[in-house]
Amino acid sequence: AIKENEPERMPPPPAVKGRRKTVAPQELNKGSKRLSCVAKPPDMQTKRGKFGEASRPNQKFYDMIQDFRETLEVTPLSTNNRIEPQKICVCVRKRPLNKQEIIKKEIDVVSVPGKGALLVHEPKQKVDLTKYLENQVFQFDYSFDETTTNDLVYKFTAKPLVQSVFEGGMATCFAYGQTGSGKTHTMGGDFIGKQQNSTKGIYALAAQDVFTYLNHRRYANLELSAYVSFFEIYNGKVYDLLNKKAKLRVLEDDRQQVQVVGLEEVYVSTAEEVIKMIQMGSACRTSGQTSANANSSRSHAILQIVLRRNDRANTLHGKFSLVDLAGNERGTDVSSNDRSTLVETAEINRSLLALKECIRSLGMNSDHIPFRMSTLTKVLRDSFIGEKSRTCMIAMVSPGMASCEYTMNTLRYADRVKELNGNSQTSG
Ligand code: ADP
Ligand code: MG
Repeated sequence: AIKENEPERMPPPPAVKGRRKTVAPQELNKGSKRLSCVAKPPDMQTKRGKFGEASRPNQKFYDMIQDFRETLEVTPLSTNNRIEPQKICVCVRKRPLNKQEIIKKEIDVVSVPGKGALLVHEPKQKVDLTKYLENQVFQFDYSFDETTTNDLVYKFTAKPLVQSVFEGGMATCFAYGQTGSGKTHTMGGDFIGKQQNSTKGIYALAAQDVFTYLNHRRYANLELSAYVSFFEIYNGKVYDLLNKKAKLRVLEDDRQQVQVVGLEEVYVSTAEEVIKMIQMGSACRTSGQTSANANSSRSHAILQIVLRRNDRANTLHGKFSLVDLAGNERGTDVSSNDRSTLVETAEINRSLLALKECIRSLGMNSDHIPFRMSTLTKVLRDSFIGEKSRTCMIAMVSPGMASCEYTMNTLRYADRVKELNGNSQTSG
């Protein structure tokens, strides 16, 4: 029944059947891949009065989001969920509001109802200053809410790829998103203050599984050994993080094989040794920087775990590349609008665009892979071709209203990575 005093309510969006009704996440996404449901404010006269935004900035938006959340049925992801093996997996992870954001009473505008769905409650204002929400719905393979641990994220993202590397494949796992959204936290491990716990990141969890598989009966007869490389790409140049940031050249031979000349590849026999390399490389990455996150947010860091046969030539068997990408924010910060920043930004944008195109080519089993567009895609070229290549992208988002625009950019990018790929999925 239609309630009284709500003449201004717009017709309900397709998925939302009534204000107090629950919305099953799967219903949110019937039809088009991404819907926009516009919900108007309940009424103009709130109990807080015309200027009643005293308790927090944007109290009105906060209330509207809370109202919307009450209509959401939440199905949390658990370890019992089935993990489907797929060629391209695209996920999103939302971090919790941090201390400063909580102090500033920042509003959380992202909801994760489960089953891969994610909503952004975009605050909008009409010309007559009426506030309303535009609720943008996205659908990914998995959506991880702010309570999700690195362990669980790992289980659904990188873990299935480790096996494919043992089967002789090339696998990649990317952490994508704006600076401060949780890329390094996810890949490198939780921060306790400024200290990072490297045993709790996807790098280390993958390394642990690599050694578990190496000792497994099923793969023992392959006679494989593991090696690690760790390098950074900044402004299109490669720097070796396991060799005092030595600047390295990227060469392509006439058979289109790409080589990073002189890249350290360290033999490792335990996960602990890999973790030591990660710590060494991460320290090298941030050393010599004035402000803590300054340069590392503008470079891509690539950890590679390489499997080679124990034969004379140490033949390559499989490779897992785990990439902590540069921040995807646009260079809109006018305070640092100097030339070098503009060059950096252009380079980052180009490499992220190239990456998206290469993953799309992989998904469509296309022969044309535009890997030459950037150094990042050049060094990962092998990962975008072949039957056995697998990739996973984890898009990180910050929950705050202040990050809303960046969050939308991140989600649109992630959405595009897998768009049109529906028919070209392989499962074995
Ligand atoms: P990025 O590498 O994307 O710039 P960071 O990984 O450095 O971002 O994260 C920024 C801050 O947010 C760090 O202090 C980090 O500990 C915190 N953080 C990120 N993701 C989470 C999370 N899922 N849970 C708790 N804290 C997080
Ligand atoms: Mg980082």
